[in-house]
Amino acid sequence: MQFKKKISLMASAIALCCGGMVAAADTATLAQPDQPWMNRQLGADQRTELVLQAMTLDEKLKLVMGYLGADDEGKHFKRPPASHKQSAGFIYGVERLQIPPLWQTDAGVGVASQAGPEARPATALPSGLNTAATWDLQTAFDGGAMIGAEARSYGFNVLLAGGVNLMREPRNGRNFEYAGEDPLLAGKIVGAQIKGIQSNHIISTLKHYALNDQETGRTTLNVKIEEQAARMSDLLAMQIAKEEGNPGSVMCSYNRINGVYACEHNYLLNQVLKQDWGFKGWVMSDWGATHSTVPAANAGLDQQSGLPFDVAEYFGAALKEAVQNGWVPQARLDDMARRVLHSMFEHGVVDRPVPATPEAIDFKAHAAVTLRDAQEGMVLLKNAGRVLPLSASVKKIAVIGGYADKGVMAGGGSSLVYPAGGNAVPGLEPKFWPGPVMVYPSSPLRAIERQAPQAKVSFNDGNDPAAAAKLAKDADVVVVFATQWTGEAFDVPNLSLPNKQDALIAAVAAANPKTVVVLETGGPVTMPWLPKAAAVLEAWYPGTSGGDAIAGVLFGAANPSGHLPVTFPASEAQLPRVALDGYPEPKEPRRFDVDYHEGAAVGYKWFDLKGHQPLFPFGHGLSYTEFALSDLDARVEQGVLQASFTVKNVGKVSGKQVAQVYAAPLDVRWEAPKRLVGFRKVEVKPGAGVKASISVDPRLLAMYDTSSKTWKVAAGNYKLTLASDAMDQKASSVVVHLDAAVYDVNGRPVAAK
Ligand code: BGC
Repeated sequence: MQFKKKISLMASAIALCCGGMVAAADTATLAQPDQPWMNRQLGADQRTELVLQAMTLDEKLKLVMGYLGADDEGKHFKRPPASHKQSAGFIYGVERLQIPPLWQTDAGVGVASQAGPEARPATALPSGLNTAATWDLQTAFDGGAMIGAEARSYGFNVLLAGGVNLMREPRNGRNFEYAGEDPLLAGKIVGAQIKGIQSNHIISTLKHYALNDQETGRTTLNVKIEEQAARMSDLLAMQIAKEEGNPGSVMCSYNRINGVYACEHNYLLNQVLKQDWGFKGWVMSDWGATHSTVPAANAGLDQQSGLPFDVAEYFGAALKEAVQNGWVPQARLDDMARRVLHSMFEHGVVDRPVPATPEAIDFKAHAAVTLRDAQEGMVLLKNAGRVLPLSASVKKIAVIGGYADKGVMAGGGSSLVYPAGGNAVPGLEPKFWPGPVMVYPSSPLRAIERQAPQAKVSFNDGNDPAAAAKLAKDADVVVVFATQWTGEAFDVPNLSLPNKQDALIAAVAAANPKTVVVLETGGPVTMPWLPKAAAVLEAWYPGTSGGDAIAGVLFGAANPSGHLPVTFPASEAQLPRVALDGYPEPKEPRRFDVDYHEGAAVGYKWFDLKGHQPLFPFGHGLSYTEFALSDLDARVEQGVLQASFTVKNVGKVSGKQVAQVYAAPLDVRWEAPKRLVGFRKVEVKPGAGVKASISVDPRLLAMYDTSSKTWKVAAGNYKLTLASDAMDQKASSVVVHLDAAVYDVNGRPVAAK
């Protein structure tokens, strides 16, 4: 095995990090290569039991304690020598039993690096919201497969990806890492991405479990939510992602839920995740989210992560003592180790070791993957007078603002991927955590020049709105870029674009009605200048091929097909929490509640319930062609609701439409008037029509019943609507009758009693 050479290094590292607890392991006899659990003919269950039986107490303990893979001077911490530099984490393996270490890296959009001078260059996908906006599981899978391949090449076998926290709070600084506000869409997209990552024989997490939907006060806040509402919203997104992606690990979050920390939450960890959903992998804590030894271990936390982030090594010597004294049963420690091992066998981590030294990465091929994802997920919000696509023969183009001469914005925090070529705009504040503010060196200005080689393309940085307006006035068309930097550990104070960019856009649009606004934002923003702008393209954080992706869409080389995975509110006044709880954060952390009084009515469901008119509804997205949705038909086949329909392209160019099916009960009440129950993205040639169908997950037609742990569909009539967004005025609908039915906690039919 490749890590064999490191035995002496490892032994000293263990001595450094883990005190005496590994003595027994180090004196144990080295195993023979033909250990029975190395037999690939056996299943993961059997192999796990075989190796577990051979393990000493100390070896089991090694598997449940994680360390940061980077030096932390402030905390006098040196990373384990066998870890990868500037990485998120490391867990010692058991060499004598041929169990490799776990090398962990973040993850959401690519192989991230912890801050420092030796960040590894990697390809960044566009933000998670962008991938969700593709509504395309293949794109999500391909992106996951790509970042998983890079992780593997760099020697990582655990990718801390799979963020699926619902967007309850559009000001949340981490929305860009997640997949929007709808449990079905978010769960499916993130599940597909996890599947893609794990196709590289490495493990992905699913995170942050659970209800960690704002950054302000994230380590001290307490989410108050009813059990039923949780099961039908954030937990449902996690459940669907888990089913779709089969992640090897789940990361529990920083926050408290109904009074208890997520990483020592018996209900969430033992009952929901492990018992109800049958999760066989392991639960790792977020970095700094372990708060105890005995309560955490007994409540279902399997692995402490990222020491020295926590105040103590809870799962080190303290856990050993707890096991020896019986406060944590030996069977529980076995279960913790079993879960880690099971995922390692199941996902190929043992059989296909990651390379000991980095392998070459095909950055060119990967640039094409991230470009495709970006272009599939950019959302054309407005296109008045069909100002887009721009013609290559346009003579004078003014490009303004947003560092467009240099590159495209990235989100900040632990998910930050360092690009080949470095930061295009170094020195922006904050330079340190959760910075640096990163601009990927993929310049939209240069890409626009490439798309229109004959045009005169002028740039103004937008710092002086009057000068920008002057340039705009003289141009045939103006493309103004606006950026909003968001990131981990902070929320934005409001939904306005920062740094007076609203005034800049207003001035430019007043000077030239042919103004196209390109937004690079972490999530929804308000747009006071909207009536004056001819077109708006939401490009999210478009990744390391972002400049080309944007220019390709502006000029019609790619026809935009992204649809919003989140509602864009008209103002903060429409949100369930008009003010962000706990904001601004005081210097001394304090505990506070965030009351999810909206329950499961998240996003468009809340807007429907309250009758609010958003700026742009969930599901919205324009194309350079026109589509007609028709022939909606619904029927129940073998107890499953199916819907079929036709998508026609009635315009002039080829394009992709996202057909959305919503269900609304006519005889009973849900948490909100309607729910998304299915979707299909289809490519259609001009003049052609494509037939498509969906089958509906019964949980999306049911209310969760907490006492029986079942999903109950009420008998009655339901309206199914075929739409191109959640507020589509042209949508067609049919009414279908459903019989009463009961489904188990995982949505499988249960025989009527
Ligand atoms: C984040 C996690 C991340 C971990 C390791 C934490 O701050 O919340 O998402 O995986 O750090 O970097």
